[in-house]
Amino acid sequence: MIAGDWRAARVASASAATPSARVLRLEVPGWPGSVAGQHIDLRLTAEDGYQAVRSYSLASYGDATEVEVAVDEVPDGEVSPYLVRDVQPGDELEVKGPLGGYFVWHPDDPGPVQLIAGGSGVVPLVAIARAATDAGAAASLRLLYSVRRSEDAIYRDELTRGAADGGVQVTWAYTRAAPAGWEGSVGRVDGVLLRASVWPVEQNPLVYVCGPTGFVEHVADALVELGHSPGRIRTERFGGAS
Ligand SMILES: Cc1cc2nc3c(=O)[nH]c(=O)nc-3n(C[C@H](O)[C@H](O)[C@H](O)COP(=O)(O)OP(=O)(O)OC[C@H]3O[C@@H](n4cnc5c(N)ncnc54)[C@H](O)[C@@H]3O)c2cc1C
Repeated sequence: MIAGDWRAARVASASAATPSARVLRLEVPGWPGSVAGQHIDLRLTAEDGYQAVRSYSLASYGDATEVEVAVDEVPDGEVSPYLVRDVQPGDELEVKGPLGGYFVWHPDDPGPVQLIAGGSGVVPLVAIARAATDAGAAASLRLLYSVRRSEDAIYRDELTRGAADGGVQVTWAYTRAAPAGWEGSVGRVDGVLLRASVWPVEQNPLVYVCGPTGFVEHVADALVELGHSPGRIRTERFGGAS
């Protein structure tokens, strides 16, 4: 353990998830375990001692000392391009966590649960989907996942496979271009799509919304307009404008 609650972490694997995102698995000796939905702070230290800290949600949950994050590159960003392009298995980083006690899901939380993700905002929702699947509760969860294009969807294969196997049901939304054969519309998530794809207001779902700040605020406002109670909407903002 390093001073200030920071722990040493070693990159165990790094694999491409989309053209702009990588999944990193980090071995963290002494990791205390996490609940689905939590995040870590990740600290990088340059040779001259300069340090940068950013938050990353965990796609993993539970007690294993190997944790999983997925990082999408923000063009011209300081930290994400390094994590997506340069960091290699064996490299050393530091992590603090698990962090966050609000944007989390417990197996005894009553359903139904609606997950709504924009871009890399899917990461903590994947942890929730994995936890719900392991707890036999996947049928009470739905996911609405908004991406620019199909190939930008982090965890696309896992989510598609899970839905086909009776797991969390996924509704895809494309903001730039849809795959061949797509019969829905292309564009920003709006009230029409929300009404058609999320659990109805009458069922009082617990809703988790995560992604870029503008996406989260737009979706949360639209949900309230549809009649969802603000007290049932949990949000996690990743930063950025859209
Ligand atoms: C709780 C939490 C969890 C997060 N989890 C994840 C995660 O699982 N995966 C992931 O990829 N990112 C996640 N983020 C975002 C992450 O912390 C960084 O902000 C992101 O990687 C950009 O860092 P950077 O150093 O590359 O960019 P910076 O150098 O910090 O920023 C460069 C420019 O990009 C803008 N910007 C910053 N963040 C974003 C963003 N998310 N989208 C669009 N523009 C942005 C800034 O306003 C700035 O103009 C999370 C953020 C929070 C608060």
